[in-house]
Amino acid sequence: MQTPRDGDSMPSDQGQRRPQPPVWPAGHRAALIVSIDVDGEYGVIAHHGADDWYWRAQARYDLEAGVWRLLEIMADYDVQGTFCWVGRAAEDRPDAVLAAHRAGHEIATHGWDHRTYASMSREEQREDLIRTRDVLASITGSTPVGHKSPFWRFNEHTVPLLQELGFRWNMDIAAGDLPVAMRPHPELPPVIQLPPSRLWDDYSFFVDWVMPPRHAFELWRDDLDVLRAEGKLMCLTLHPWVGGRPGPSRALTQLLDYAIALGDVWIARADHVALWWQERERDLAEENPS
Ligand SMILES: [Zn+2]
Repeated sequence: MQTPRDGDSMPSDQGQRRPQPPVWPAGHRAALIVSIDVDGEYGVIAHHGADDWYWRAQARYDLEAGVWRLLEIMADYDVQGTFCWVGRAAEDRPDAVLAAHRAGHEIATHGWDHRTYASMSREEQREDLIRTRDVLASITGSTPVGHKSPFWRFNEHTVPLLQELGFRWNMDIAAGDLPVAMRPHPELPPVIQLPPSRLWDDYSFFVDWVMPPRHAFELWRDDLDVLRAEGKLMCLTLHPWVGGRPGPSRALTQLLDYAIALGDVWIARADHVALWWQERERDLAEENPS
């Protein structure tokens, strides 16, 4: 027999509704993931071509300076995030991958050379995922469980492949403001979809448009306020050669100042959020067996 819970009114004879599992870990009203896509030069090569030395030279900042500044900021605030690596950029600077790993950040995959997955066959995507995952695992000694598609361009093969290969999360689809458990193969553990947004992408503010960092911060702060009131999730996307530049890095520090001062925002790695959500889904299923 079930016992009444705090807050329940008089027991009814129709059985009592049990409380839903909390959306976030105790004491937290919202969650924030800081994800950092380390493209090296390969993002701009995939976009502008290998002979566009203007963009390649700009993006050289990624591994030379930006990634190190972002690592320093995260260390100053004592927060852990998720670094999504292009495989070739990891090969160029394994020391940066190792520095992020040793600082407690998650290491995830972001394509071998930043070609869009939407343009690849299923087999090409599979090879690209395995090759990128393997090079990162060989550097850190632990196998990545998360993936963000280059340019956020995926197709119908991507999530099923991630599930088959044992990946646990993906950050490509803005399917609302909460994680979504995706199970194209019902018999396998789900891939937890974590919602990105072009409004939470430093590219929108400092590449597509150029604006003062405080404008990016103000937009992110307003989003976080609404999400916190609703108990939801924000997934920031930064690029070291963009948001890791001196002034733009202030958008991150101002957001961290704000989120930490709120005192109830769970600032967490993507794999930790995905694991939390997977366990929450399991608890929900056990409480509401179909
Ligand atoms: Zn990228």
